[in-house]
Formats: sequence, structure tokens, C-alpha cells
Amino acid sequence: MSKKCSFCKTKESVENRLLAGDDIYICENCVISAYKIFFGEDSEEAEQIDFDMNLFTPKELKRILDDFVVGQDDAKKVFAVGVYNHYKRIFKQSTVKDDTEIQKSNILLIGPTGSGKTLMAQTLARFLDIPIAITDATSLTEAGYVGEDVENILTRLLQVADNDVEKAQRGIVFIDEIDKIARMGENRSITRDVSGEGVQQALLKIIEGSQVNISPKGGRKHPNQEFSQIDTSNILFICGGAFDGMSDIIKKRLGSNVLGFNQDKRGKDEEAELLDFVEPDDLVSYGLIPELIGRLHSVTTLKQISKEDMVKILTEPKNSILKQYQKLFAIDDVILSFEDEALLSVAELALKRKTGARGLRTIMEEIMIDVMYELPELAGYEILITEGVIKKVSKPIYIKPEKKSA
Ligand code: ADP
Repeated sequence: MSKKCSFCKTKESVENRLLAGDDIYICENCVISAYKIFFGEDSEEAEQIDFDMNLFTPKELKRILDDFVVGQDDAKKVFAVGVYNHYKRIFKQSTVKDDTEIQKSNILLIGPTGSGKTLMAQTLARFLDIPIAITDATSLTEAGYVGEDVENILTRLLQVADNDVEKAQRGIVFIDEIDKIARMGENRSITRDVSGEGVQQALLKIIEGSQVNISPKGGRKHPNQEFSQIDTSNILFICGGAFDGMSDIIKKRLGSNVLGFNQDKRGKDEEAELLDFVEPDDLVSYGLIPELIGRLHSVTTLKQISKEDMVKILTEPKNSILKQYQKLFAIDDVILSFEDEALLSVAELALKRKTGARGLRTIMEEIMIDVMYELPELAGYEILITEGVIKKVSKPIYIKPEKKSA
């Protein structure tokens, strides 16, 4: 199969040479575009990065996501448009001269754990070479409480941006488990963090855009320390959360018989479909403060990963788990194959564990450990993993090269 540029998909040829990285390729044109992106077309404005929007249209951003994230089409679209608009707002706003100011539009991703929320943010950040800091809202506290100050997210972003304040100011902050800092409503459980609302207020301050003094090394501030000042008005904030129980809130608002959502017949799919109807009011009922919701303009939902998509995740993305194992095996001159039923069986196990696609890697590791233990002695063999291996009732089949040709 001929190689293609991973960015613009042009095939390799004598005129179009490709530079190879780890499982990716880039052509000369894209290198030039990348140069323009990083250093600006005009040397006098070298600091002012000229973001070549022809290179990364929403469709192209989605295509990049498609290579790594299985399914979740709606979310990918919203995400691609959100990121495109964000960087257009930063880099191209001045090309149309009037006094309209485009406001920042942060993103809220609602979807079960292990459905690809973080993966999406990481994938685009990697391809656009944007610094990204990922944090878990449950670890955050209001300043002064035991735990991590909200501002420490910015310290992390600055570190990822190699202490380049300008770069950090255009970065992405991904805050997972935002639902876990919802404040308690009258009819919600008492199990959540009591400081939830305070953390939301602290987050609001940085999300809506402010000048924040941060200590470059993180940790608590003290008077004689040097600070870096970060302006958060151009940082894209992406919040993610599973929002368990949200479908009940939506259903209550819509009325019990809406769309034939019959209590008895309601399956997981229908629950997920209900999430598509989420409105700001539902998020308020869930316990997010309205001011924070007002800053998260693009709301999109991700679906629970199905069995079929689990198999796709194992086999199809550019650096899929199976491809990674096959490479590990190939280094020892061993061919690794899985029967289709074996892959389905792995998917079923992952579904049972309820950790979304996150569980796949652990399951594969458990299955492969014995074979990997022997791997260096198996050079020249093909190893076939059957359904029985996954169900722990049989051993992998070792096929000798002579046997194969017989
Ligand atoms: P969350 O939705 O909880 O943020 P992640 O994006 O961190 O979940 O997913 C955990 C892991 O599961 C990822 O690193 C990836 O390996 C796998 N994964 C989850 N969803 C997908 C998906 N839609 N396509 C491909 N891999 C996925």
C-alpha cells in the first residue's frame, strides 16, 4: 500500500516526498504550512502566528479525529467546529474589520467514562501542537483547602508549553469529571464534595477570562515567590463528565411519556438518546452553577461504546491496541492473530467491567501476559488467540512456519 501524508492524504511520489515518523507521514507542503503556523509567514510578525485555516478546516480536524477515535460522530463534529472557531477567533479575528468581538466558546462533553472524551482532546492537541493540560475536577479545591488549587491547572499548562507564556495562553485545559463538583440540590444525593460550589466559582473565574498569577513550580503561593501572569481569555476550556442520572432529570422535564420513553422498555440506548436533549436548565438541576454553564456554549454528548465499536477500537485506529501488540510481537519475529470471536469476547468482557473502552487495554494485558513471557523463544511462530483463550478454557495455538505451508 502506498504511503500517504497523514495530514493532507496526498500519496507519496517522486514529486511528493514524505518524512516518516512513528506510524505517521508528512509531505513537503504540510511541512511548509506547519512552518507558517509556528513562525508566521511574515518574518516581521514572527511572533504573530499565522494560522493556516486552509490546512485545518473542521472537516480536516474531524478526519484527524476519525483516525484515532471510533464512532462519536456528533461529538467529533462539535469538537472540530469548536476548536476551529476558537483558533479562528484568536488568529483571524482581525481580518474582518468591524467592532464585533467574537466571544470564546468553551466545550462541554457529556458521556460515560471511557467513551473517548479525553482521547478527542488529546488527539487534536497533539496534531495542532497545542499545549494541553488535563486534570480531574475531583482533585481540585478552592484556594486554601487541602487538595489542588484550581490555578494549578494553569501551572501545568505552562509547564506543558515549555514555560512559554504566549503558547500557554492559547492552549487547551481539559477538566474531566466536572459533574463530580456539582453542588447538592434538594433532591440529589449527599455524597458529593461539599466544596463543589466553591470549586465551580474558582473555575468560573479562570474560564471566563482573567489575569491569574501562578507560581511556575506549582504548589501553594507564598509572598516572596516569583509569579508568571497568565491571561486565560484565549485558553480553550473543555469540560467532560459522565453526568450519571442526567437522563432522569431530562425525562422529568420532558414529561414521562415523551417520545415513547416507556419506563419498562427504556434501554441503555434510549437513555443515551435522552441525553441529546440536554439543556442548560438540566445542568442547573444537576448542580452546576448557571454562570459556569453560561461559559460552556458548545454542549455535546458521547455514546456508550457498543460491543461492535469495542472491536473496532481494538483493531482499527492508527495505533490500536491490537496493532501495538502485533508490533511488540513482530520485534521478536512472531506473528500475532486474533480470531473474530476472540475479539468479540474481549469486547464483552470490557462491557461487563463498565469502564468503557478504558478496560480493553487491561484485559488484553491479562490475556497476553503468558505468551509475552515466552515471546523471545517463539521467534518464527504465528500465535493465534481463540475465543477459548479469552474465556480461559484453552491455550493459544502456536503455528510453526513449516506447518503453515504444509
Ligand atoms: P473518557 O471518556 O473517560 O475521557 P478516554 O478518552 O480517556 O475516556 O478513554 C480511555 C481510553 O479508552 C482511551 O485512551 C482509548 O484507548 C480508549 N477509547 C475510549 N473511547 C474511544 C473511542 N471512541 N475510540 C477509540 N478509543 C477509545
